[in-house]
Amino acid sequence: MAENTSASNNSGLVEFNHHLVSEQETRMSGSGGSNSGGTSIGNPTASVGTVSVLLPSGGGGGGGTKRRSAVGNNNSHNVGGSTSNSTSISADLASLFECPVCFDYVLPPILQCQSGHLVCSTCRPKLNCCPTCRGPLGNIRNLAMEKVASTVMFPCKYSSSGCPVSLLHSEKVEHEELCECRPYTCPCPGASCKWQGALEQVMEHLMVAHKSITTLQGEDIVFLATDINLPGAVDWVMMQSCFGHHFMLVLEKQEKYEGHQQFFAIVQLIGSRKQCDNFAYRLELNGHRRRLAWEATPRSIHEGVSTAILNSDCLVFDTSTAQLFADNGNLGINVTISTNV
Ligand SMILES: [Zn+2]
Ligand SMILES: [Zn+2]
Ligand SMILES: [Zn+2]
Ligand SMILES: [Zn+2]
Repeated sequence: MAENTSASNNSGLVEFNHHLVSEQETRMSGSGGSNSGGTSIGNPTASVGTVSVLLPSGGGGGGGTKRRSAVGNNNSHNVGGSTSNSTSISADLASLFECPVCFDYVLPPILQCQSGHLVCSTCRPKLNCCPTCRGPLGNIRNLAMEKVASTVMFPCKYSSSGCPVSLLHSEKVEHEELCECRPYTCPCPGASCKWQGALEQVMEHLMVAHKSITTLQGEDIVFLATDINLPGAVDWVMMQSCFGHHFMLVLEKQEKYEGHQQFFAIVQLIGSRKQCDNFAYRLELNGHRRRLAWEATPRSIHEGVSTAILNSDCLVFDTSTAQLFADNGNLGINVTISTNV
């Protein structure tokens, strides 16, 4: 038996903002001793380069010569120090790019108000005036700040969760998507559960909050989805335990194209993307003189199954195919997990 849950739509805007704020708080409070013991944040060479570009006016006014010597002093003071010194300077520079509304970084294209205040491109369309000075926003591009932004090492969004990595803004989004410090979300499909936490806590969460999900032991089991003719979008979920790991089997019925209902079946590992490489899964429908099979590497729950379903990178069949294999409205899917090692 599998648990079925109707898919519900997801309005997580408030939580999202809250999430960003709490990250910001931690980012500001503790930059030094992360628990993973990561010492070298970013690339020291690049940081030093940044420093020399970026510490111009020490004393403001004065003639060209005076000013140049002030820069020299600043540089020798800062660059002479340790790597951590230049790292903290890079962090200070990164903080100049903080959006005053969402505390995320303001990245190119960078627009400023008439007084020079910055706001990020996500918040900007929602604002009528500058959040700092209340003046008009206009469309003034700040090319100098954009140039500076491309030399600054920004800390990963998940630095407060222990990620020691700092990167150029152009590499930031890609890293954060794959970052192992990004919290895991609840692997149950349907987006109705907002739980987040560490990988080690996922199983406990499932056992406490999703008690009704059945678990079967063994590498070769039958995932029995009942009442597959239920109308609307429906998910069937069950767990399979073997090789010392837990897998979540998901069967989803949804209408990707209007008027055309399809079934999507996929297996995800309660584990990291790296651990997935050690396994393969096979899904098989068996009917009278018919067989439909799919083999692939399980998805990590860190990645989730929604993209795979969207790309049909899973076992896909339509409702009439399902009828060929169903028995009294119940569909049995043979699931086999194997190891590659
Ligand atoms: Zn913003
Ligand atoms: Zn302003
Ligand atoms: Zn990271
Ligand atoms: Zn959950």
